Amino acid sequence: MPAETCRRCAREAPNPNAPEYADWEAVVDNEGKYLGMVCPGCITREEVQAADEDEMETVEFLRRVQSLSLALCPTYPWTGMTLDGAWLVMK
Ligand SMILES: [Zn+2]
Repeated sequence: MPAETCRRCAREAPNPNAPEYADWEAVVDNEGKYLGMVCPGCITREEVQAADEDEMETVEFLRRVQSLSLALCPTYPWTGMTLDGAWLVMK
């Protein structure tokens, strides 16, 4: 897979395992389709806000999962398994 580049300035994204990568944001369209990455220098305030809302949703989801006593998958913590074995996947 070729290295990701910023959609706006074409700067090369750091390695996904590098700490700097956390500052890059994935950009999705209104339908949630992945469009690419944007570097911290090009990201807009609206996009930062949207990302924060996503995080809030994740926290809310995990809280709901825990309150239902679902087992969280250790590898994919955003999925949970219900007690009857059905998988619950976020989004
Ligand atoms: Zn950029």
